[in-house]
Amino acid sequence: MIVAIDGPSGAGKSTVAKAVAKELGFSCLDTGAMYRAIAWRALQDGVALDDDEALGQVSRRYDISFGHVEGDPVPRRVFIGDVEVTDAIRTAEIDRAVSPVSAAPSVRAALLDQQRRIGGAGNYVVEGRDIGTVVFPDAAVKVFLTASDEERAHRRVRQNVDRGIGSIDYEEVLADLRRRDAADSSRATAPLRAAEDAVRIDSTSHYIEEVIDQICELARE
Ligand code: C5P
Repeated sequence: MIVAIDGPSGAGKSTVAKAVAKELGFSCLDTGAMYRAIAWRALQDGVALDDDEALGQVSRRYDISFGHVEGDPVPRRVFIGDVEVTDAIRTAEIDRAVSPVSAAPSVRAALLDQQRRIGGAGNYVVEGRDIGTVVFPDAAVKVFLTASDEERAHRRVRQNVDRGIGSIDYEEVLADLRRRDAADSSRATAPLRAAEDAVRIDSTSHYIEEVIDQICELARE
């Protein structure tokens, strides 16, 4: 069974997806981390971010995998090939690089295969931008999670502090979220949009726990 959670940057998808997975006893797949890992590898290898062919080669050459911190059932560690990139993919540089990388059709095709292979292996909560529309169009539950721009930016600032990555400027974060949303929504391949049969949840004025409960209920119906 697949629970698909899509939505714009910083709407709380990761937190919600991980909590829902824990609650339901499902595994959890963060597809954004996969695009970030390819962006990281492409920068390391000096690949031009508008070179679809070369980006596709990078995506096909390396497998992306996830690992657990001991005692935590949610896979928070991210690897590309055998290099751990858990923290390296959460920088402002990767925030900028990931939009052109995720717009490359060859990257999307390669990651689509990997995502279907991983998610098809069992009960999964899968979060991203195109899970309900493209990756798992037959998902049992589809949620499109949103929040106001300002709320999303505040959350991202707090998240970075919590992750120990350091403080970031609110205005810069807000501008970056809007830039990434615009890029994700306007690209030709798998643009960000809600699936027609997705349940839309606006988390701006809801406690995250309520959102988690609502999605768990949908999955149990
Ligand atoms: O979710 P996160 O912000 O980590 O995703 C990083 C980027 O990866 C997004 O801005 C988007 O460009 C891309 N992405 C995507 N399709 C997905 C998941 C993420 O294009 N399914």
